[in-house]
Amino acid sequence: MDKDTVFSLYAKKPSQIAEILSLEKPFQGKQIYQWLVRGVSDFDGMTNLPKSLRQDLAQKYPKLSSSDVITAQTDDENNIKLALGLHDASIVECVLLSDREGELTACLSSQVGCAMGCRFCRTGTLHLKRNLQDFEIVEQFMHLQRAASDKISHVVFMGMGEPFANLDSVLSAISFLHDPEGINLSHRRITISTCGLVPGINELAKRRVPVKLAVSLVTADDQKRSSLMPVNRSFGLKSLRDALVRFQKVSGRRFTFEYCMIHDMNISEDDADKLSRFCRNLEVIVNLIPFNPCPELPFETPSDAEIRKFTSFLKARGVDYTIRISRGRSIKGACGQLAGKLEENV
Ligand code: SF4
Repeated sequence: MDKDTVFSLYAKKPSQIAEILSLEKPFQGKQIYQWLVRGVSDFDGMTNLPKSLRQDLAQKYPKLSSSDVITAQTDDENNIKLALGLHDASIVECVLLSDREGELTACLSSQVGCAMGCRFCRTGTLHLKRNLQDFEIVEQFMHLQRAASDKISHVVFMGMGEPFANLDSVLSAISFLHDPEGINLSHRRITISTCGLVPGINELAKRRVPVKLAVSLVTADDQKRSSLMPVNRSFGLKSLRDALVRFQKVSGRRFTFEYCMIHDMNISEDDADKLSRFCRNLEVIVNLIPFNPCPELPFETPSDAEIRKFTSFLKARGVDYTIRISRGRSIKGACGQLAGKLEENV
């Protein structure tokens, strides 16, 4: 199917909905929009529309979204991973993460697969199939919201794909999620995570969309980073740092370094030294994430003792850090574990 002919009412403004559905009364576009953001997924449930119109629309458009939930997996802590079947038979995964305070975060994907090839990430083994369109990103959120027990309060673009390689669709989806007359999610509750695509960081600074930025750093050693993350061969640590300094100047905002801790790889005293030097004069917090085990990847999770040692090195050097507890590991929904493989979702 041609991508331009894929039908979805998501990520559309009320006026676009009215146009797509050829509605005679434009205000009905707004009514439909409001039902969609409330989670209603068929015309039948849109009870303030005339019955004849609902029946007519339902006949013409039996589905309002382009994707379907193929499977849903829930773990003991109420984290939920959904595998969605897309219009072209691709599969994309998204995850609802539930924290101890009961806050719900939607972890969304921006691409089917990923071209970046980070060696510690399962998605990176898939290669890039294609970019997601804005409505396919919003639909992930809506499917997760329907599966959730409460209102989703945060969104992170940390699922499959590199968001800055598909920035227009990501920002269009964000604009839908942010609309105060719709989902009304504050920009401050939305995080874009990048592996370090410098042009994307520059572009985000230029467009002045005040979302949060997270950069997957993994190591502050150029040689090591190039071997773990091919993006570093094009945009090395110096150019990454320069871009972040510019970003900070323009945005005035603190950002996060994601630091995936890998046994015997990036948690020595020397690594802590390099990290502390890299963070100097940046308004940054380092988010330490123990590597999430993936049998097909040649890395191991560090032990608790190794993690304690590394954090003591960081503390001694005044690095501002937190340790992120990985959620969704048992359903392969944690950081770096998404692979969109059908056999894992049945
Ligand atoms: S970590 Fe992110 S950018 Fe790197 S391969 Fe995985 S999905 Fe792609």
